[in-house]
Amino acid sequence: MSSNKPLATKKVFIKTYGCQMNVYDSDRMADALAPAGYAATQDQNDADLILLNTCHIREKAAEKVYSELGRLRKVKGERAALGKETMIGVAGCVAQAEGEEIARRADVVNLVVGPQSYQALPDMVARASQGERVVVTEFPDEDKFDAIGMTPKKVLASRGPTAFLTVQEGCDKFCTFCVVPYTRGAEVSRDVAKILGEARAMAEAGVHEITLLGQNVNAYHGLGPDGEPWSLAKLLHALAEIDGLWRLRYTTSHPRDMDDDLINAHRDLPQVMPYLHLPVQSGSDRILKAMNRRHTGDEYRRLIDRIRQAQPDLALSGDFIVGFPGETDQDFEDTMQLIRDVEYAAAFSFKYSPRPGTPGALMDDHVPEDVMTQRLHALQALITSQQQAFQQSRVGLSFPVLFEKKGRNPGQLVGRSPWLQPVNVQAPDSMLRTMQTVTITHTGTNSLFADLTESGQTSTVEPLLEAAS
Ligand code: SF4
Repeated sequence: MSSNKPLATKKVFIKTYGCQMNVYDSDRMADALAPAGYAATQDQNDADLILLNTCHIREKAAEKVYSELGRLRKVKGERAALGKETMIGVAGCVAQAEGEEIARRADVVNLVVGPQSYQALPDMVARASQGERVVVTEFPDEDKFDAIGMTPKKVLASRGPTAFLTVQEGCDKFCTFCVVPYTRGAEVSRDVAKILGEARAMAEAGVHEITLLGQNVNAYHGLGPDGEPWSLAKLLHALAEIDGLWRLRYTTSHPRDMDDDLINAHRDLPQVMPYLHLPVQSGSDRILKAMNRRHTGDEYRRLIDRIRQAQPDLALSGDFIVGFPGETDQDFEDTMQLIRDVEYAAAFSFKYSPRPGTPGALMDDHVPEDVMTQRLHALQALITSQQQAFQQSRVGLSFPVLFEKKGRNPGQLVGRSPWLQPVNVQAPDSMLRTMQTVTITHTGTNSLFADLTESGQTSTVEPLLEAAS
């Protein structure tokens, strides 16, 4: 890294993989590096520092990082030919899982930083610029976001009217297929006052929708200003009182942590959107037990009934793993029956693949690849038909949409429905960042198309439907 450059001219390019928490973390990494003179760039060829914020959930995650590092070696070489130095870092869950191994295998890497240590980035970059190869993968006691400090209002404003806010990290559930308890560590909740402070700053900067993030977000139990642990429901009630915050969402939840207060928040707080991502993974009690999910298929069904009693217009999404070790045809049929019973608006589904270090990786009785493929196709066809039915059920309805960005076509804006689908509308740019009532005209594969309603009025409270189907 060139040391005679003025501080403010350095650029950092952060490539984000995986979940929304990584998106939030990437923003906070940029915040941490700003005082060290780094401005964010979207062009990796223009970057003095390239950070890969990695995800360990998908298959062969580490191998994919090593191939990306191979490509970055070329970028580094091309920049070096122009007399420019480039520093390369690996962050996120692969960095946590692989640690020193990355530095050993990929000499192009200058620094490796685990997800709990982003506050150390300026110091790590300074040390790496002196030629040291720096690896930090500890789980320090301090709140990394606290150490990074508040994001400047100007920066928050530049990130648009919707934002992620991490309230909880790590997981104590130890599902037998999952690496999260090993890469993100034990469950930790941030203090209520810090979350409310960050949310207020976001609202003052023009953020109108916040999605609270946590690997196990509904297990949230952060310390409140009253010295007592607050539940996620109590936190949502406090957030709903912040002026300018029109919409609240949260993800990802575990069925065992959906308590009555949280269910009732969907009924009582108009700011809490009628959308819930509540993974079940399998409909077979035998497989749920082997996965260590600690609930049955029927317990999940009864839970969904209770949530729908509180909020009948709920869009439910889920995660499914097909081909977990030992999964029989009957186990898979139990999953299909659960999907038929519950009716999802969306879902993510994957073939099982063992993650090194998890109990699932040591299990026998693997399901053959071709059987997994057949099951995945059948499951995805069922989910797609349910998703299309849900999309179709929105046609003709009028509801508020928060316009987030320009669409692909000229004169088009894109926002989200209360149920999280993208909605495309012909509307003037002056309506960006506002919430307008629209009427759905037709559906696309994954999105909706709408017209502005006649009144074109700006709404500040959600939803409820103006025209029932
Ligand atoms: S609850 Fe979620 S994050 Fe925790 S171990 Fe299970 S799948 Fe992983």
